[in-house]
Amino acid sequence: MMKSKISSLQVLFFSLTLLFSYAQDRGNHSKFRRIDGWNTPNAFRTASGAPGFKYFQQKADYTISITLDDKSQSISGEEIITYHNLSPDILTHLWLQLDQNISRENSVARLISKARLRDSISVEELSYYFPDFKGGFEITAVVDKSGSNEKYFINGTMMRLDLKKPLRPGQKYTFKVKWSYPINDRLKYGGRSGYEYFPQDENYLYTIAQFFPRMAVYNDEKGWQTQQFLGQGEFTLPFGDYDVKITVPADFVVAATGELQNVRQVLTPTQVKRLSIARKTFDHPVMIITPDEALQNEMSRSTSTKTWHFKARNVRDFAFATSRKFIWDAMSVRTGSTTSLAMSFYPKEGNPLWQEFSTRVVAHTLKVYSKYTFDYPYPVAISVHTDRIGMEYPMICFNGGRPRPDGTYSKATKYGMISVIIHEVGHNYFPMIVNSDERQWTWMDEGLNTYLQYLTEQEWEENYPSRRGPARNIVDYMKGDPETLVPIMTQSESILQFGNNAYGKPATALNILRETVLGRDLFDHAFKVYANRWKFKHPTPEDFFRTIEDAVGQDLAWFWRGWFYTTEACDQSIEDVKLYTTKFFLKNQTGKFTEIDFESLPDELKVQFSANEKMLINTPYFAQISIQNVGGLIMPVILKFNYDDGTSEIIRLPAEVWLRNERQFTKVFPLKNKLISVELDPMQETADIDTDNNRYTIEDTRDLFLFSIKTL
Ligand SMILES: [Zn+2]
Repeated sequence: MMKSKISSLQVLFFSLTLLFSYAQDRGNHSKFRRIDGWNTPNAFRTASGAPGFKYFQQKADYTISITLDDKSQSISGEEIITYHNLSPDILTHLWLQLDQNISRENSVARLISKARLRDSISVEELSYYFPDFKGGFEITAVVDKSGSNEKYFINGTMMRLDLKKPLRPGQKYTFKVKWSYPINDRLKYGGRSGYEYFPQDENYLYTIAQFFPRMAVYNDEKGWQTQQFLGQGEFTLPFGDYDVKITVPADFVVAATGELQNVRQVLTPTQVKRLSIARKTFDHPVMIITPDEALQNEMSRSTSTKTWHFKARNVRDFAFATSRKFIWDAMSVRTGSTTSLAMSFYPKEGNPLWQEFSTRVVAHTLKVYSKYTFDYPYPVAISVHTDRIGMEYPMICFNGGRPRPDGTYSKATKYGMISVIIHEVGHNYFPMIVNSDERQWTWMDEGLNTYLQYLTEQEWEENYPSRRGPARNIVDYMKGDPETLVPIMTQSESILQFGNNAYGKPATALNILRETVLGRDLFDHAFKVYANRWKFKHPTPEDFFRTIEDAVGQDLAWFWRGWFYTTEACDQSIEDVKLYTTKFFLKNQTGKFTEIDFESLPDELKVQFSANEKMLINTPYFAQISIQNVGGLIMPVILKFNYDDGTSEIIRLPAEVWLRNERQFTKVFPLKNKLISVELDPMQETADIDTDNNRYTIEDTRDLFLFSIKTL
């Protein structure tokens, strides 16, 4: 020991203090610690992520009748809303959402929309930034049951109704709203709904949504969800029962959320018969309106009207599509104990693709999603052809994928169409049934849905060209300029790189959790537990994180923190590999070590070594490997050992290998064969953003002087 002026006691005290503060510091900053800021578990939401014993949700029932005017492309309607206060709170006012007001001339969404000029710009592009369309609801009456006026106030896309008497727990309140609004040209002004005009046959195809004043959500977590609709953050809606009558020109066909109530009044006897055949047909779509019949219909110009009557139970919204141009096919699909009708509505412009694929894709989607969640609970699932967009509503969605005018199409169009149908039909599960708050958290529906979309695509066709899901597909995003990245746990309106952030990254994270961290059986079980706990309820992010941990029996704070709360990327590096060959030495009577062949030892000495010691003595090689965490993201470490006899081996180390040092670790591996190289993440499953430091070739071996304290 070296002499020093400082006493050894001082040194000990000093180093203990250092050690203590270092340990304390590390404890506070460990990426494995519980996540701060999660909501406190309570009687509404439990610590294990399930609904609590006092969990509640509100209910809003609607009786709506609307008329669509094809001449002026406008809608007018009235609705009776019955709002059930199932909360323990007394409500003095109600909030409704007026999402059409996003199209008002002075809407916040329009005022904050930005653009840049270039030296030359098309008039069409410029007019997109300065739309001449003046939309928005005109509210013509808000009255109570007896017909007397209600007091209300409109703030942008929200409308507050001041109750004459407070609404007590368990009470319901019924009132009526009348409104009208002009429908937007969707291709010109954008939007999730609107119309498309077909100049060749002078027909309109309407995809209509957010078309009526809808109740906002009131819950234990946020009170009234009053975030304005700015376009990016989608919808937050309570469940309820809908009774909707839609009046359209008599030659129009209507597809809508729910079950058609007056089949015989709006369909021909032939169509009624075909529909009943479709109810018994499980292996191919049955035509309800053939392409020839749709072509005939396109040329008609009826002056009378028909009213289509739909009912839907336990849905969070209602949407519909209508046109003269619709071809309509349907087939039945069984998911577990339920049977539903998969249907498609499309103009001739969608063919030949739509006739061949759409309804089959709807049926396939319901089957695969049900396998990973729960049986599809609704009577119908409808895919409607639109140009370009994909947009989802309960039981119905509007999907792009249009062949060229001559009927030919690229592979990209075909797979783009199949993917968008899987995705939008899949939204029935998230967020239509597992009803998360889309206006706050886009990933809770888009991320979970994109994850299941990936599994569904892979089951549709071997080697399906999936865009999102595999770890390697997210690498370019993960290594992007930090200024352009925000964590997944970012409020919907503030998200940068929307598609990669809210769809791609969470879908990939879940896929990695399934394939690399937990294994398929464990993850699939947990995902199913979450889906079943929260179906027909309103989960929060914590409910998801906590449920997964509760169901897998593992603390995953490091995973949620890394993937959902930070923008850190995975970059692991092999710093060093040292390969040792074993040489066994024993002391002889003179006290000198000599190299010994273990097998040549006398039996009475051999028996003094335990089985484990014998195994180590006979292990010809030891590798000492140092790995560095350059990227910061905590991830499992997957190593491939390549041996000189041409064989190889995969070693998987759990993420907890980083528990006591998040930057670097060194580990020893006993080996039977001579190691020649080591690879990190050989199957590209961790989204490692720099693979240049993922391979190490061993140039030389050194001797390991292995000795025992036993003597010869
Ligand atoms: Zn989506």
